[in-house]
Amino acid sequence: MSNLFPTYNKWPIKVKEASGLTLIDDQGKKYLDFVAGIAVCNLGHCHPYVNEAIKTQLDKVLHVSNLFHVEGQEEVSELLVSHSSGDAVFFCNSGTEANEAAIKLVRKATSKKKIITFYQSFHGRTMGSLSATGQEKIHLGFGPLLEGFVYVPYNDCNSLINAVDEDVAAIFLEVIQGEGGVHEASVQFIETINQLKETYNLLVVVDEVQTGIGRTGKAFGYQHYPLSPDIITVAKGLGNGFPVGGLIGKAHLVEAFGPGSHGSTFGGNPLAMAAAKATLETIFNHEFLQVVEEKGSYFFLKLTEKLNSTTMVKEIRGKGLMIGIECNQDVTPIIGSLRNNGLLVLNAGPNVLRLLPPLTVSYEELDQAISLIALELNKIPV
Ligand SMILES: *Cc1c(COP(=O)(O)O)cnc(C)c1O
Repeated sequence: MSNLFPTYNKWPIKVKEASGLTLIDDQGKKYLDFVAGIAVCNLGHCHPYVNEAIKTQLDKVLHVSNLFHVEGQEEVSELLVSHSSGDAVFFCNSGTEANEAAIKLVRKATSKKKIITFYQSFHGRTMGSLSATGQEKIHLGFGPLLEGFVYVPYNDCNSLINAVDEDVAAIFLEVIQGEGGVHEASVQFIETINQLKETYNLLVVVDEVQTGIGRTGKAFGYQHYPLSPDIITVAKGLGNGFPVGGLIGKAHLVEAFGPGSHGSTFGGNPLAMAAAKATLETIFNHEFLQVVEEKGSYFFLKLTEKLNSTTMVKEIRGKGLMIGIECNQDVTPIIGSLRNNGLLVLNAGPNVLRLLPPLTVSYEELDQAISLIALELNKIPV
């Protein structure tokens, strides 16, 4: 018996050790990890540079609170703003908190309350970010929701144009919907958002909690598009496994988050900053990101090649090392079977296999995963 609330259907694996892409369970069985803690361990498990940075910081100072100047916050924010459209950072501890901060900031900065989000989006589990999430199953039983959200079909330019008016504070989107099925924004959709921003002077918020920190082969996913977000939210990969999140905003928003307006006891904690600094120093590097892009292209092409004649596969989507394989059936049994064969993958909605390997994955490991997936999906469905 477990004393935990059963909020997660847990996999029958107890991980005892992890290194790179390899997890070893209590039976000594090895797994190839294409989940990476849900796009968290982007540098692989127990990355020596990140782990060393955490250990070194631990023995200096663990926590002081935001009443003090924390040097690591200055260093990490410098890395974030110099690789994005933003100018200032607010640190928190998770993706949902980063989005919660974004909801507060757009309302305060614009004095408007209407926010456009999209069906199949995922923005988190606190009341604000679950209200932003355009999925009924996430809302179920938790009403009343936070008011002001209007949900629009993703990639549907006309619906978006019809939904926007003078009262809209912001359009809030993922450039690739992660949990919702690995759906990429079309360039036309982004251009429509830019036009609406111009016309209505609204803010654009990009939730980069999953697509950020090198996942798609760029520092942030929006950088594949002609887009300059007012606000970017990050978490997941930011600390390579250490809990840390952040909101990156443009200079014109700084005043709206003045002293006393928003806060967090743990946000920007020295240990979290040490993890984030080491992670960003490694990933926010032109050569590193180029290799991610190359590996992503290889992975996508090989999967397409091997699954070409597979009747079970409807479509393969994604950018960099964020890939979705849409199947014509529920993928739960496929995920279980792959796990038995030593490969860990996730779902994104009922019918999509989601592949999120650490960005440090080798070509050999990509080939291993491709073989296992092809073997599984080429089985005649029962
Ligand atoms: C995971 C995720 C979140 C929520 O992050 P938490 O750290 O679990 O709160 C928000 N947005 C996106 C796009 C995500 O993938």
